[in-house]
Amino acid sequence: MKAAKDTVVSFHYEVSYGPGVTEDSRDAGRATWALLGHGQVIPGLEQALLDREAGERFEIDVPPEHGYGPREEGRIQRVSKKYFLDAARLKPGMPTVLTLRKGGQRSVTVHKVGMSTIDIDLNHAMAGKTLHFDIEVLEVREATPEELAHGHAHGPGAHG
Ligand code: ZN
Repeated sequence: MKAAKDTVVSFHYEVSYGPGVTEDSRDAGRATWALLGHGQVIPGLEQALLDREAGERFEIDVPPEHGYGPREEGRIQRVSKKYFLDAARLKPGMPTVLTLRKGGQRSVTVHKVGMSTIDIDLNHAMAGKTLHFDIEVLEVREATPEELAHGHAHGPGAHG
């Protein structure tokens, strides 16, 4: 079947956004699952997935306005290293995940590394960038009523 609104698509992706910065979902050994039409993936990627079928492979470029939006100035914050799971290996420009005091996590970019603190840029690492995606569609199926109610896909190991 073809991917459309209210279908679930699983895919592998490789995304590059600047010299030498590539993220590959195969590295994590798993597929990405998305319920289309519910804002689960960035608009440019969602648009490109429509009408695709299992086994298709394609490449697209997604400009910031259809990706993670423009980069905003003045979003640098100084945070204690204890809020990072991987503080020891962080270098400027690297994406990382910040554990929030009130619970939850947030994707940020390392701006500067100090002795006991790290300056982070609250912009998403891919904000302001044109993203180049290499996509391989693995599966397309109807969403379950539960997925539609939650507004996201339930891949293997999903909550609940
Ligand atoms: Zn759910």
